[in-house]
Amino acid sequence: MEANYILVRFGELTTKGKNRKLFTRKLLKNTQEILSDFKKLKYDLQYDRMYILLNGENHLDVNEKLKTVFGIHSFSNAFKFEKDLNVVKDAIVQLVNEDNKTTFKINTKRSDKSFPGKSQDINREIAGHLFHHANRQLKVDVHHPEMLITVEIRHDAIYVMTDVIKGAGGYPVGIGGKALLMLSGGIDSPVAGYLTLKRGVDIECIHFAAPPYTNEFAREKMLDLVDQLRHYTHGKITVHIVNFTKLQLAVYDHCDESYAMTVMRRMMYRIGEKVALKNHCLALVNGESIGQVASQTLNSMQVINEVIKLPVLRPVLCLDKLEIIDIANKINTYDISIRPHEDCCTIFTPKAPATKPKSYKAEAFEATFDYESLVDECVDTVETIVIDNQYKNNELIF
Ligand code: ATP
Ligand code: MG
Repeated sequence: MEANYILVRFGELTTKGKNRKLFTRKLLKNTQEILSDFKKLKYDLQYDRMYILLNGENHLDVNEKLKTVFGIHSFSNAFKFEKDLNVVKDAIVQLVNEDNKTTFKINTKRSDKSFPGKSQDINREIAGHLFHHANRQLKVDVHHPEMLITVEIRHDAIYVMTDVIKGAGGYPVGIGGKALLMLSGGIDSPVAGYLTLKRGVDIECIHFAAPPYTNEFAREKMLDLVDQLRHYTHGKITVHIVNFTKLQLAVYDHCDESYAMTVMRRMMYRIGEKVALKNHCLALVNGESIGQVASQTLNSMQVINEVIKLPVLRPVLCLDKLEIIDIANKINTYDISIRPHEDCCTIFTPKAPATKPKSYKAEAFEATFDYESLVDECVDTVETIVIDNQYKNNELIF
């Protein structure tokens, strides 16, 4: 039997009191966007759950996409029946006959209290029917059943479910405002973006490119990462690409090599803050992790962070590289991140960057050139593109 509904549970949302309408509406909107390829689906948003009417779409294909929607706690493929227990009993026999497992449990929930019979009695009645009519010998196991068959008697209908699939958890994207993700081509920043989205914070991305030192493959790699992250949003992500070459060369001309990295990152933060404010982003996000490289010691972070006021979120700050890689694999960004294309930072990496930089020294180097107009030029010449489900078909992007 092909499921005709998917029942979606919200989980964490239930704790959000009067904001709940906002949450569930956002979740509905995001889900509709993520599932937009399935044209026949219909949605029914209720107080404590959402039903997706499959209308002939394949439930397994829809399941895969649904697993990426933040704010969904779990979901089940469901079969909707008229409110007649005999119809339901026969259908359950048919469902069980299609399976080959032995132990089962019937779990009836009667939210329509006017429906005759107690839940326990209905459980027993359905189990008895199964013993008599199933095509093989079955056993009840109330603790660890191989088949947990849930029967929900609601006001509109009876729903039968045979599975509970774990959702992505978190909050619906966008409910927590928007932040600007500093996205390199590396492993860490896409993971930082994913974790931010999971908390319901939408993202735009900023990428620093240094043409002609960085090429179109580096750009494609970064955009492919965005295309992957897009699956966890409402389907699209805006990317701001900064031409960083002139400013980066100026930094290397005017700073001692040991300070070039510190000053360059101060410039990235300055540009990031300006682009964020222009685009209503409330924070910067990056993939910094304590101690990973010279610019990520607490000393460095302090000297780099002090040039801006906007909060900087660092979701992978306290994770080990292996933990970050685990998440990158789970979200399918790892294989893209390890493609061997140069990033603007890798090309200009100084040999011995200061791990304990001093603010006054960074300021002294910066005082030797008019970096402010170069920063403004970067902001004014930003190239902005939107990555959506047309990305892979859209050859004009490159
Ligand atoms: P990643 O694996 O994400 O590249 P990393 O360990 O290589 O991180 P760095 O190169 O020092 O670390 O960069 C730290 C963070 O700064 C990155 O995670 C990213 O958020 C940001 N960043 C670095 N380079 C760029 C870039 N070219 N464009 C945008 N953001 C960048
Ligand atoms: Mg990097």
